[in-house]
Amino acid sequence: MRVKLSDSDMKTFRRAAEAKRINLRWEKSAAVIALDETATEADLEDLLEVFGAKGPGLTLDIELGIPENLRRTSKFLTHKVFSEHRSETEMLRYLRKLESKDLSLVHSMIPLGSCTMKLNAAAEMLPVTWPELGRLHPFAPAEQTLGYREMTSQLEQWLAEITGFHAVSLQPNAGSQGEYAGLLAIRGALDARGQQHRKVCLIPVSAHGTNPATASMAGMSIVTVACLEDGDIDLADLKKKADEHAKDLACLMVTYPSTHGVFEEGIKEICEIVHGHGGFVYMDGANMNAQVGLCRPGDIGADVCHLNLHKTFCIPHGGGGPGMGPIGVVKELAAYLPGSAAVSAVSSAPFGSASILPISWMYIRMMGPDGLTSATKNAILNANYIAKRLEESYPVLFKGKNGLVAHECIVDPRNLKVMADVTVDDIAKRLMDYGFHAPTVSFPVVATLMIEPTESESKAELDRFCDAMISIREEARRVEKGEWPKNDNPLKNAPHTAEAVTADAWARPYSRETAAYPAAWLRERKFWPSVGRVDGAYGDRNFFCSCSALS
Ligand SMILES: *Cc1c(COP(=O)(O)O)cnc(C)c1O
Repeated sequence: MRVKLSDSDMKTFRRAAEAKRINLRWEKSAAVIALDETATEADLEDLLEVFGAKGPGLTLDIELGIPENLRRTSKFLTHKVFSEHRSETEMLRYLRKLESKDLSLVHSMIPLGSCTMKLNAAAEMLPVTWPELGRLHPFAPAEQTLGYREMTSQLEQWLAEITGFHAVSLQPNAGSQGEYAGLLAIRGALDARGQQHRKVCLIPVSAHGTNPATASMAGMSIVTVACLEDGDIDLADLKKKADEHAKDLACLMVTYPSTHGVFEEGIKEICEIVHGHGGFVYMDGANMNAQVGLCRPGDIGADVCHLNLHKTFCIPHGGGGPGMGPIGVVKELAAYLPGSAAVSAVSSAPFGSASILPISWMYIRMMGPDGLTSATKNAILNANYIAKRLEESYPVLFKGKNGLVAHECIVDPRNLKVMADVTVDDIAKRLMDYGFHAPTVSFPVVATLMIEPTESESKAELDRFCDAMISIREEARRVEKGEWPKNDNPLKNAPHTAEAVTADAWARPYSRETAAYPAAWLRERKFWPSVGRVDGAYGDRNFFCSCSALS
C-alpha cells in the first residue's frame, strides 16, 4: 500500500514509526507499507497510530490472516511422519534417527576435493544465531545498520588485502554468481574502452563447469585452450588462440592452483599473454585455500577473482548453501562492480547472504594474518602427505615440477579396473565400511578420486584415512590374485549393512569380519551404513517409493 504524503507529514510520520521500531519504505513523497500473514492486529493499530489515524470511534474491522475463499480445503501433510512425533523426546529420537544415516564430520574427515570442506568452527558459527545479525532486514535504513556495515567493510578490506585487489563486492551469493559479476565488470570496462566487439572468453579444458556456463550467460563466446599431459595449460596453444582472437579477445578464465591441484608454473606468463592481447584475466579463486597468506591473485596478474567464502573461509556448504562468492577487482574494474551506477545488481540484497558473513569475519579475525598463512601451509602439507603416503598404492595423477601437489591431489585407480575389475565406485563404497566419506569421484578426471584434507585434520586422522585407502588397495590385490572372484568380493559388495553382516545366511567368499571390521580401529568406532549397494544408474532411472503408503 502506497500512502502519498507531503514532505512535512513524511517527517512526522517517519519519526513516529521509528519511535515504534517500525521500518517502512520511505519514497520521495510516499510511504510504502507491506503486510504479510505474520502481521497482527496490534501491528495494524501501531500503524494507524503512526499515521495519526487512531482515535476514539475508530475500530478495526478487518479480517486478519488468510481470507476464507483462499483457504485450503483439501487435506495436506497427510503422511504419518507429520503427525506421529508428538512429544519432544519422540521428535528428538526421530531427528537423531535421520542423523544416524549420515556419515558426517562427526565420524571422520570428509576428504572431498575441489570443494574445500574445511572446519566450520563452533565459535565462527555462533554469531549467526544472534537476532542482531540474523534478523536484520537487507534494506534496513543505513543509520540502523552501523555495526553490520562496520563488519562488512572490515571483511571487504581484509579480503582485498588477502587477494591483492583494489575493491571487493560482497554481493554475489555463490562462486558461480561471482564469476558472472566478474565477467559483467569486464564487459563494463571493455565497453567503456569502446571495445563492445571483444567477446571471446578463453577457457582451459580443465576448467570447472561453472566457468563456461558463466561465460555463455554473460554473452561471451567460448574458445577452449588445451592442457598438457601433466595437467598444465598448454602455453603454445594459449598463445595461438590469443593471437587468433587478438581483435576480439575479452578475457581468460583460469583457476589457480589448477583444478588438477597443481600450482601452475606458467601462471604469470599466462596473465601476460592475455593482457598483451588486450584481454582481462578472470581468476577462479575456488582454490584460494592454497594461496591465502602465501601469494595473491592481484600480484600474480589477475584482474578479477571470486572467493568461495563457503569453501575457503569456513561457511559450511555441505547441505548445498547458502554460499557467498564475493569478487575482488583491480582499479579499472572497480566502477563496474555489481550495484554500481554502471552495472545492475546480481543479487537482490546489497550484501548478498549477509547473515552468514560473520562466519568468515570470525574466521579471519580469530586466525589473524599468521594463522591464515599457517593454515594454508598446513593444507598444502597435508595434501602432500596424503599424496606421498598413497602413491605406492595409487598413482598420483598430476604433480608440479618438484614432484609436489598444491592443496589437493588426484589419485588414479584406473589400472585396478583393468586388473581386478575394481572401479572408482567400488572404492568409494568400500570406504564407508571403513567409516569414511568418499573423496570427490570422477572430477576433474573421470574414474579418479580427488582428495583434499584441508588444514583442519590431524595427522592421526590423515593416517587413518590413508590406512583405509591402502588397505582397500590390498583388497583389490587379492582380487587380482584370484583369491576372491571379481564379481563377489568385499569391494563389489560394499557397503555392508549390519543387517547383511548379522543375517543367518552368509554365502560370501570372505568373512563377516572382513566385511564389517576390515581395520582394527573400527572395533571402537564403527559406522554402520544404513543401506547396501544400490546400482547408481538403476536407482536414478527407476524411481520407487520405499516409505509407508500415503493415506
Ligand atoms: C566450487 C567451484 C566453483 C563454483 O562455486 P559455487 O559457489 O559452487 O557456485 C567454481 N570453480 C571452482 C574451481 C570450484 O571449485
